[in-house]
Amino acid sequence: MTIRLFNTLSKTIEDFQSVSGGSTVKVYTCGPTVYNYIHIGNIRSFLFSDLLQRVLRIVGKYDVQWVMNITDIDDKTIRDSAIGSKEWLNDMGIQSDNPNHNLRLFTEYFAQKFIEDIHSVGIQTAHFHTMPRATDYIEPMQQLIRNIIDNGYGYVSEGNVYFALGDWMAKEHYGKLFTVDTEHFKAGVRIDADEYDRESVSDFVLWKARKNNEPYWDFPYNGYNLPGRPGWHIECSAMGQDILGLPLDIHTGGVDLRFPHHEDEIAQSKAGYGLDTANYWCHNEFLEVEGKKMSKSLGNFYTLRDITDKGYDPLDIRFLMLSGHYSSVINFTFSGLDAVQKARKRVQDFVYALFDTRINGDASATVFHDVATALADNLHTPKALEILFSFINNTNPATLTAESKLALIEEFRTINDIFGVWNIEAKPQEHIIIPDDIIALAERRLQAKKDKNFAEADSLRAAIAEKGYTLKDTKEGYTLELNER
Ligand code: AMP
Ligand code: ZN
Repeated sequence: MTIRLFNTLSKTIEDFQSVSGGSTVKVYTCGPTVYNYIHIGNIRSFLFSDLLQRVLRIVGKYDVQWVMNITDIDDKTIRDSAIGSKEWLNDMGIQSDNPNHNLRLFTEYFAQKFIEDIHSVGIQTAHFHTMPRATDYIEPMQQLIRNIIDNGYGYVSEGNVYFALGDWMAKEHYGKLFTVDTEHFKAGVRIDADEYDRESVSDFVLWKARKNNEPYWDFPYNGYNLPGRPGWHIECSAMGQDILGLPLDIHTGGVDLRFPHHEDEIAQSKAGYGLDTANYWCHNEFLEVEGKKMSKSLGNFYTLRDITDKGYDPLDIRFLMLSGHYSSVINFTFSGLDAVQKARKRVQDFVYALFDTRINGDASATVFHDVATALADNLHTPKALEILFSFINNTNPATLTAESKLALIEEFRTINDIFGVWNIEAKPQEHIIIPDDIIALAERRLQAKKDKNFAEADSLRAAIAEKGYTLKDTKEGYTLELNER
């Protein structure tokens, strides 16, 4: 099935075609900055990329190579990994006077917490080609920076390296994903921060000179050493090229990454490698709280632990995110979470009913094709779920043939390979205690059978059924089950 995607580059929904023309698709996702627990707004972004790769694989039949980087070097990871910045860091062994070592210990701790969190919302490690740490790619970053300088679009100033944006804009359009205020651009003004607003468009930093007691790497350039550390944007350019090769098929991230992160990534990769970054750029909208982006800086955030501590299942969060279209804002409320929890259970109960083949009819039904068609249309999960719920509301499992139930179970299994929030199995039997009088009846029936007193055996079975239990004969004797009410 053809997959259609909204491409932030063209601002239109396009039919997806792979760069190679074949079945391999390279997807690169901007991953977390690992300086603390992620919040459920971040999770929305990773679940969007997970949805994309699942739809590409399952509906589009592509072989997806999915890379999500882990940002383990930036102002925040440096700040919080420094000795004395937080008392509990001592428990993690962060006591050495080697800041590079401390940074690694600190970021690996939160990288593992991140991986635990995404696992619990159903993102599987097996689906990643790799999850590279930025600090393992310092050399490719340095090589890219050398290329940019050598090609005339980078320069050194006081040990830092900057991207010469004015020179670049004389050649190439800047603002391909996001409208940028280039008329405010001031030649020669430099910005050292990784994040800035669109009024502050200026020469941005590629490499930051070493500061006392901070992590650093040597950077040999033209016989000089420029000890320091990379800026944020350069890491994705270098890792995308080093691991997957540019141009990527699809680059993903939240809408806030369009500028400056992704704009700068496009400029750097073109200036240094002469290559486009990606054919398709796909961005997810925000998870908001009362009209504001959920974010650490506003303090209006929930971590996954905050949610599970209130008794919710992490898969309720997964289903909440998939219930909205990725390009629409979702407003987070607990009543919204309660509603999706109920909706999830409704589908689960239907699946359990499909496994019950005690009562069958002569009808058949199918739903997968319509659900897949909605998902292929720019990952329209709300439309897909509307189709699924309308199907469930109009289908009584007891009226279906046993074969149709089996076929539907397989359809639900494939749908769940995308949604990932249901158990496609028979309802687990709750552990029930069979009362003594029922067991006594069953024992008397067993004896009657042995005595070939079949009339007595049949009437005892009927007595057991009347009390709400089903007796089944087995080689060893019998089993007893409580009937569903
Ligand atoms: P960060 O660790 O801040 O770089 O964020 C990781 C990812 O989460 C990025 O793709 C962000 O765009 C995304 N993100 C951050 N806050 C939200 C939010 N409230 N809703 C959706 N995505 C978000
Ligand atoms: Zn990135």
